[in-house]
Amino acid sequence: MLDPIRTQSNLAAPAHVREAEPMRVSRATFDEVMFQTYAPAQFVPVRASGSRIWDSEGRDYVDLAGGVAVLSLGHCHPALVAALKAQAERMWHVSNYMVNEPAMRLAKKLTNATFAERVFLCNSGTEANEGALKTARKYASTRFGEQKFRIVSTLNSFHGRTWLAVSTGGSPKYTKGMGPVPAGITHVPYNDVDALRSVMDDDVACIIVEPMQGEGGMHPGTREFLGAARELCDKHHALLIFDEIQSGVGRTGALFSYMQKGVTPDILTCAKGIGGGFPIGCFMARSEVAEVMQPGTHGTTYGGNPLGAAVAETVLDIVDNEAFLARVLVAEQRLRTGFAAINRKHDVFSDVRGEGLWLGCELTARLSNRASDFMKAGHRNGVVFLTAGNNDILRFAPALNITDADIDDGLARVERAIAEVVSSQAA
Ligand SMILES: *Cc1c(COP(=O)(O)O)cnc(C)c1O
Repeated sequence: MLDPIRTQSNLAAPAHVREAEPMRVSRATFDEVMFQTYAPAQFVPVRASGSRIWDSEGRDYVDLAGGVAVLSLGHCHPALVAALKAQAERMWHVSNYMVNEPAMRLAKKLTNATFAERVFLCNSGTEANEGALKTARKYASTRFGEQKFRIVSTLNSFHGRTWLAVSTGGSPKYTKGMGPVPAGITHVPYNDVDALRSVMDDDVACIIVEPMQGEGGMHPGTREFLGAARELCDKHHALLIFDEIQSGVGRTGALFSYMQKGVTPDILTCAKGIGGGFPIGCFMARSEVAEVMQPGTHGTTYGGNPLGAAVAETVLDIVDNEAFLARVLVAEQRLRTGFAAINRKHDVFSDVRGEGLWLGCELTARLSNRASDFMKAGHRNGVVFLTAGNNDILRFAPALNITDADIDDGLARVERAIAEVVSSQAA
């Protein structure tokens, strides 16, 4: 039989590509040719493995940021590399005019593991929320009429960067100067049950909420607040959307945070950790909700592509495991113990809070607004972590499988970074 791959005639790279050296670039190239929407670190990472990153100068960093809670299994996990390679050699893309096996397997595993009965696959968190909100409005107008379109969200929430997502998110700084935003969105303070109660009526299509606010300052949602959201949605025939884009896929020590909070949403959005570094997102719902979305009502070119689905399926196989999730909580305690020891010595944190491997260390008043200085000192000392809130919180979201040795090494480097900032403050 003919080998279908070897008989292709156009497989070899053309000579001009085969022989070219990669173009030389450096950190300065970012300032030269890229939109300045980010302020990336001064070093350029070129290689990474597990919870380590190496830069173009060969320096190593302990990664306690996990690519912003994305790298659930660390960098280049062998099982994910194998899944991606195998799928890369089999089939990349067929479009949604055809279905593919990895996408169906992923959806089957997600519905087996959650309350949801149907899954829509997309490419990012923002798209997941966009689709979830569209579904909620479609459900409300189909079942109850066009007047039912209000969206209730929380202040300081983060839901992504499209028009609908930034408008739904609770940070006006992300919409400023960009013209009119979509109408019908109300914000209430997070964890404020009375405020939530006071804005609800029968024209609300949905409440969208993070079970724990990440970007907004690492605030765990209370059972009272999330429970009240559930009860008010039931009372007003509105849908409850949990944005688990950052909290999902083992981050908090459960497969999804809603399972720990004891409150089940109607729609769940998920991205970041499910791809372990490969771009993929999804939203999921019960059939009764999903069925308002008919052929033509929503779509995406790359969503559900076999590469992303094959990787996500493998992430889920590994994370959806009792022993794996239990270890997340053990690692959380090791980090918390380390932060407490650092704080006894340097007195820098007024609070350490969070859930699972998702912790925020709030800086004391004298150091408030200096979180990014600590982050930069971290880079100088070989450790990567994030900030949150109003530049007053150090945020940690390492790989869920980070080793004890990497935690300890990372903490030692965090301590050196903190000592450096504190001594420069004193001087
Ligand atoms: C990151 C994030 C998003 C946006 O996801 P993207 O993949 O960046 O579009 C939305 N909601 C929450 C809670 C997030 O953490």
